[in-house]
Formats: sequence, C-alpha cells, structure tokens
Amino acid sequence: MAGPPALPAPGALAPGRDPRLGEEQLAIQASVRELAQRRILPRAAAIDETATFPWDVVELLRGHGAFAIGFPLAWGGVSSSALSLVVAIEEVARVCATSALLLAVQSLGGTPIALVGTEAQQGRLLPDLASGRRLAAYALSEADAGSDPAAMRTRAVRAGDDYVLDGAKMWITNGEVAELIVVFAVTDPAAGAHGISAFVVEGRPPGLTRNPIHGKLGIRGSSTAELVFDGVRVPAANRLGAEGDGFALAMAVLDRSRPSVAAQALGIAQGAVDEAVRYARQRRQFGRPIAEFQGIQFMLADMATQVEAARGLVYLAGSRIDDGGPDLSRIAAMAKLFASDTAMRVTTDAVQVLGGAGYVREFPVERMMRDAKITQIYEGTNQIQRLVIARRLLE
Ligand SMILES: Cc1cc2nc3c(=O)[nH]c(=O)nc-3n(C[C@H](O)[C@H](O)[C@H](O)COP(=O)(O)OP(=O)(O)OC[C@H]3O[C@@H](n4cnc5c(N)ncnc54)[C@H](O)[C@@H]3O)c2cc1C
Repeated sequence: MAGPPALPAPGALAPGRDPRLGEEQLAIQASVRELAQRRILPRAAAIDETATFPWDVVELLRGHGAFAIGFPLAWGGVSSSALSLVVAIEEVARVCATSALLLAVQSLGGTPIALVGTEAQQGRLLPDLASGRRLAAYALSEADAGSDPAAMRTRAVRAGDDYVLDGAKMWITNGEVAELIVVFAVTDPAAGAHGISAFVVEGRPPGLTRNPIHGKLGIRGSSTAELVFDGVRVPAANRLGAEGDGFALAMAVLDRSRPSVAAQALGIAQGAVDEAVRYARQRRQFGRPIAEFQGIQFMLADMATQVEAARGLVYLAGSRIDDGGPDLSRIAAMAKLFASDTAMRVTTDAVQVLGGAGYVREFPVERMMRDAKITQIYEGTNQIQRLVIARRLLE
C-alpha cells in the first residue's frame, strides 16, 4: 500500500503560477516587469522631483511596443485583452505611477474609438495609439462639472461639414502632449445628458490653448492641463457615435478604464510593500532587524493581505471587460474603490515602517504615498464609485 502523500518541500511553498492569468498575461507580466525594474525604476525619483513629462519613458514604451497592449492585432496592437493591460499597468506602477499613467491614458483615449468608432475612424486613428506615435487624452471634466459631468458647458455647434467647439476642459491628463483628444461637448443644450456628443480632436488645431496645471501632490511628471476651445473646428467625420450618445459613451468608457486606475493603485501599493519588507529586513534597532518585531510583522502582513485582496478585484475587473459580463460597472467601480483605498492605506503604513526614512525623498515610499492619493480622485472619486455600486445593487 502506498504511504501517505509526502508533505511539500519548503521550496514548494513559494508563490505559484497565478491561476487567473493565461500564457499571454504571464508573458506580458514578465516582459513589462523586466522593463520597469531595469529601465523605469531608475528614473522614477527624478521624474517626480523635476515634475517633467517623461518623454524618455514614452520612447522606451514605444520602442518595446508597450502601448500596443490592450489594442487588437487588427489595429496594430499586440493583445485586445484588458486583463493583459491591467497586469502591465500594475508592473509599471509598482516602480513609477506617472509612467503607468501613460499606458492607462492611451487606452482611455482609444476605448471610445474602439467602442463606437466607424471602421474608417478605427483604421485611421487606432494604429497611431497602439504604436504610441500619437499620445491620447480624454477630455470629460470641466471646472464646474467634475463628479457631475452631465453639467458640462463646452458647446459643439454644427457648421457645414464641421462642428465648432467652444468652452474649457479641466484637469486633462496628457493635456499638453496629446495629439489625439476625445472631447465631450453639448450639441443639444435642451436634452441634458442626452444632448452630449463625443469628438476626436487631432493635432494642434487653431483656437485650442493648452494651459498646464502645475504643483500637483503626486504623479508629478504627468502632464495635466486645462484645454480651452475657442472656435475650434472639428470635421463632422470625427464625431464618435451618434449625436446625443456621448454621455452614455463616456460612462461606458469609464467602466473600462477604472480597472486601469485600479491597476495603477495596485502597483503603487505592491511597490510600497516591496520597499517596506526590504527596509524592515535591513534596518536594525534594539540590536536586531525591525522585521523581528511582531508590531512590524503584523503591519507587513496586513499590508500584503490588502494588496492581494485588491489584486483579486483588479484582475476580476480586467477579466470582466474581456468576457463582457453584465456586471462590469459594479465590478470596475469596486476594483477602483478598493484598490485605491488600499494604496492609500498601504503606502501610509509603508512610510510608518520606514520611520524617519519614510518621510524623506531619499526613499520611494514618500513618493508612493503622494502618488496613491490621485487614484482615489480621478475617473470618479471614491464617493462616486460608491454611488455606482449602490445604484447597481438597488436597481
Ligand atoms: C491629476 C488629475 C488628472 C485628471 N485627469 C483627467 C482626465 O484625463 N480627463 C478628465 O476628464 N478628467 C480628469 N481629471 C478630473 C477628475 O476626474 C475629477 O477631478 C474628479 O472626477 C472629481 O471632480 P472635481 O475635481 O470637480 O470634484 P467635485 O466633483 O467638486 O467633488 C468634490 C468632493 O465632493 C464629493 N462629491 C461630489 N458629488 C458627490 C455626491 N453626489 N455624493 C457624495 N460626494 C460627492 C467628491 O467625491 C469630492 O470629495 C483629473 C483630475 C486630476 C486631479
């Protein structure tokens, strides 16, 4: 008779293959991790310190085809899988949240075109986003219409074969650098949310002024700008979807982009755990590594557990986009809410684990704590995520 099964050798308890990821995601995870750790990590502190847009990282991502992740082969992409994209964003955010945002916003700008663009629009516009030749932006928010974007006032008036855009968009990521901007504007003021339409603004048309916004708490290398439209002409052929369908499109896009923000938050949080563990092993007080104190061990354990729980929701949200599940809105909002709250808590705890060293720029956790905050705010604040989740539960 065979004896009892042997206990696993200690080595077998090392992290196993992630069952949520297929071959494609594992390959993308490995290659992006290598790129991020070797090439982006050494740049992260300077990008933050100088608050300058990282064109060198853009070149790096272009050169490695990283912008193509999340774009289908037909449009010059490498993978249409949203799960692949969230995995890539997580790996970059683990070392540099500003750089991870480059990938997230490229997809944010591409998604409305992928969702409702005509074949001609998709064939003409998406390959440039997949290659990274043009950077994208998504202009929904206005100074007086943030959580309530249906209150936007930017107007688009039909004039022959064009629309003429007047108004101002606020807080637009990539605002200074984007060569393709998806802009939402009111075409029928009497129709409320049903009077909003979406347009693609290309290049640097006359009448468009980009006013950079300086002094951000985190993601300091990211370009954030106010966009002022003063009689900007956009060809009617650049309208995305039907007139009046823009608001529904904007919401459908957010359902598909919130998992990217959640992945950014997840990566930031994982990076903070990495740093806290490294520091706790090497820092000695009372004659031994602080990692030997149970108070520190419990903090590290709680941090790692929260990050792993966040990863569950983030990967689920990525998979929901891929499988088209009807509960995408709810899951995407949950992933964004939980992962960003986790990032804020875990980075704050990481600063605590590092003590005084955590409070200065010489160590990365201070930057991570500042970077984490934005993930609770953009693409809908976490109060708005709770509204989305509650609405889905109660409808
Ligand atoms: C760095 C940065 C980058 C950004 N990038 C982009 C971008 O690329 N494109 C884009 O379109 N926008 C972008 N935004 C805008 C962002 O999405 C908005 O800032 C966000 O949606 C909140 O809007 P608001 O700032 O006007 O805050 P407000 O809407 O004024 O909210 C203020 C407070 O009130 C709360 N609140 C509002 N309504 C409710 C409610 N009904 N119930 C409970 N609480 C509520 C909010 O949660 C918040 O705490 C960016 C913002 C920043 C800071």
